[in-house]
Amino acid sequence: MDPQHLAKLAGRIPGVAPADAAALASRGAVLLDVREPAEHATGIAEGAVLIPRGALEREAPGTLPDKGRTILVYCQMGMRSLLAAETLGGLGYRDVRSVSGGFRAWAAAGLPVTQADDGLTDPERRRYARHLVIPEVGAKGQRRLRDARVLMVGAGGLGSPAAVYLACAGVGTIGIVDFDNVDESNLQRQILHTSARVGMRKVESARRTLEELNPLVRVEAFDARLTSGNADAIVPRFDVVVDGADNFPTRYLINDACVKHGKPNVHGSVFRFEGQASVFQRGRSPCYRCLYPEPPPPEMTQSCADAGVLGVLPGVIGLLQAVEAIKLILGEGEPLFGRLLVYDALAATFRELKVRANPECSYCAEGRPFPGYIDYVGFCGLSFPGAKDGSHGAAKG
Ligand SMILES: [Zn+2]
Repeated sequence: MDPQHLAKLAGRIPGVAPADAAALASRGAVLLDVREPAEHATGIAEGAVLIPRGALEREAPGTLPDKGRTILVYCQMGMRSLLAAETLGGLGYRDVRSVSGGFRAWAAAGLPVTQADDGLTDPERRRYARHLVIPEVGAKGQRRLRDARVLMVGAGGLGSPAAVYLACAGVGTIGIVDFDNVDESNLQRQILHTSARVGMRKVESARRTLEELNPLVRVEAFDARLTSGNADAIVPRFDVVVDGADNFPTRYLINDACVKHGKPNVHGSVFRFEGQASVFQRGRSPCYRCLYPEPPPPEMTQSCADAGVLGVLPGVIGLLQAVEAIKLILGEGEPLFGRLLVYDALAATFRELKVRANPECSYCAEGRPFPGYIDYVGFCGLSFPGAKDGSHGAAKG
């Protein structure tokens, strides 16, 4: 906005105080709201006609056919309404005035405000105000987030940051599967948990943290290891699965259950200074088995306990997973389908590797019936999958 031009308009276009505008509107003048739809989240002057400024030339003649009628234009602060008034003057409207101070002054004066019918509650509008003004989210996206159900497998290094941000973002239901207790050595990275909760069940600690962060969110806790015996009872109840597993048997099981039920599997793994993320979904991308048909030999797979991990690294990767989950829920952007994003913290680089579908993949190849779950622990050559925070020997593509 050119300040000189605005000053000139302010001198030319009659201003009207909000209270006077309300009085004129009650006598037949038109109140015209020219803000963007996302701005309606904080309310609308009662009785206003809604036409965003950019749509005036297209919509005003049809909506407001009487060009002699008094039109009281308002925006949020009282600046853009001057430009809108100029546009309306150019369209032949003869009595156009700008409401001084805009909607903000209208509301501050205690004049009647109606809520946009956006399907959100007042607490939701307040909490998610910074989402509501983003066109790609808005009230519609926020309702989608509220209605979404995301399953976190693991309340550890990856699951912690992902769950924290998903809860803050307003994902309505967060499921958490974990079978472990909070250990002091977890606290270096597992930000769901606190020093005072060492020894507590992780799902309980996670629930407390998430409900404190956002009481509008519901947590469904599964105090169990995800197994082929319970996967079919848990996975289908969710829209998106976030893989925060710390071991290969669980990773393969998550993949297979997601393929079976057609759920998106938001994958992440970390190893010392390197992490990776991708999104798998049957029919939309290859699967984890297309990328890694076989697990690495057991002697090559070190857990975090054995190999170590930079505490902040699962934060980076877990948040990439949270972003991907939110994109899937909103239906916005390009998910990491068919792409493996590899982050090297020491080099400070992101590389992207293409993941190709394996036409012979025993799980996701088209037309192939689901072959059933397997003995995942045996498949990975392990005697016991281990309760550690381990990860992927970050097999590189
Ligand atoms: Zn596959």
